[in-house]
Amino acid sequence: KNTGVSVIGLGQMGSALVKAFLTKGYSTTVWNRSPEKAKDLVAQGAVYTPDVEEAVATNSLVVICVLDYQAVHEILDTVGSTLSNRTLVNLTNGTPEQARLLKERVTQLGVEYLDGGIMAVPSLITRSEAVLLYSGSQKAFEMHRQALDSLGTSKYLGTDSGLAALNDLALLSGMYGMFGGFIHSVALVRSEKVNATEFTSELLIPWLHAMMTTLPKMAQMIDSGDYKTKDANLEMQASLDTIGDVSRAQGISTELTDPIFSLMQRRVADGHGDDDFPSVIELLRQSTN
Ligand code: NDP
Repeated sequence: KNTGVSVIGLGQMGSALVKAFLTKGYSTTVWNRSPEKAKDLVAQGAVYTPDVEEAVATNSLVVICVLDYQAVHEILDTVGSTLSNRTLVNLTNGTPEQARLLKERVTQLGVEYLDGGIMAVPSLITRSEAVLLYSGSQKAFEMHRQALDSLGTSKYLGTDSGLAALNDLALLSGMYGMFGGFIHSVALVRSEKVNATEFTSELLIPWLHAMMTTLPKMAQMIDSGDYKTKDANLEMQASLDTIGDVSRAQGISTELTDPIFSLMQRRVADGHGDDDFPSVIELLRQSTN
């Protein structure tokens, strides 16, 4: 059986994936809409074919990483049933729904479908800090685990193919929340010309590290639905808008901090002042889950 990999899509990310497979000694067949992007990779040992159907036919493991799902579907239109009995690992960014629909489409051809979310930039690929989230066919994940591990740290999240995209977006949400907090924090100290670089490394990062240790306890509260606390309850935290008052006095907009304080205050107004902070999640839940 062929232990090679076919990679469809040689953009920034696709090219990094190919290099990683080549470094680990996988014979790698590549295809890209614009052929010139294959040149450097061929010099490094990849096999290029101008025929996408041939690229798919060559190996039982097919990795696709193109701009978006529309491109994935357009490429699959030209491949037809050649994909049958193969494993398709799709590392193109998209929504859980797009992943589920694609799984449906290719499963009809007898394809094992694994969806992936890459938590890294191309230059991080191969390093353990590059985390790749997978969901969908467990059989495909187990069978090709070794090849996938060439790309970074592989995490399998379950058989629902939408889970990788959902977790990917959840992690990015956490990141943007942190970036937002960082920007407001630095804007406040900069209003008095405090050096942002020094403030960040000396005070903010150690503080955020300490605060991060409180997240597992908060997550447990959310899992159990029991938000009672004896420490810092919502009423105490939300009663004074000191951050808002001082920000305004320093000429700093409160548009990043307002949403979180307004949620805390609404929760207090709803009679949950005794709860700990994670209780505000109840206000974010707009459906039945
Ligand atoms: P690039 O813009 O560098 O490459 C896009 C690729 O998609 C090219 O190979 C391009 O082909 C191809 N493509 C676009 N439209 C079509 C089409 N209609 N038919 C065939 N091929 C098409 O993007 P990246 O490589 O950076 O990103 C690829 C995927 O990886 C995206 O979904 C991105 O969100 C995701 N990703 C990227 C990260 C990054 O840091 N770069 C990080 C995490 C995920 P052509 O060369 O012919 O234009």
